[in-house]
Amino acid sequence: MSYPGTIARELFLRLVSRPATVCYPRERLTLPPGFRGRPRLDVDRCNGCGLCARECPSEAIDLLALAEKVKRPAFYFDRCTFCGVCAELCPRDAITMSAVFELAAGSRQAFYEPPVLPVPEPGSKAGAAAGGGGAASEPERYPQAAGDGAR
Ligand code: SF4
Ligand code: SF4
Repeated sequence: MSYPGTIARELFLRLVSRPATVCYPRERLTLPPGFRGRPRLDVDRCNGCGLCARECPSEAIDLLALAEKVKRPAFYFDRCTFCGVCAELCPRDAITMSAVFELAAGSRQAFYEPPVLPVPEPGSKAGAAAGGGGAASEPERYPQAAGDGAR
């Protein structure tokens, strides 16, 4: 087929075929089964063993001490590649891969997710053991102010 003929054929095919993409974000594709989005931690199931932090290939997890003998993972989603290794290895099934993949934010700080312990009932045993619930809110790897672009 001649060159102009090839172009005409391609033009025709493009005109009559459906687009390969959707008009995101107005239109959205149905996520396939097994889709891996942002990891989600269930702090109640976690026992603080630290396996996820040790094995994360992107070094996106730190194990933080929230109280005496209470450690939980903190996530740096600016490093996470959504590989799912942490969820796969967790012996307590405390990490699941969510369907959340839209993580755009205006500051690097927004990609840091510290663990938050549930606030225990006043006077409860759990409250005494955990030191009253709480969170480590300052990302240790971002030493300066939020959104400073530190790497
Ligand atoms: S591997 Fe699981 S149980 Fe161990 S610290 Fe990570 S989330 Fe917690
Ligand atoms: S999904 Fe992969 S990169 Fe992200 S925190 Fe888990 S192990 Fe690390």
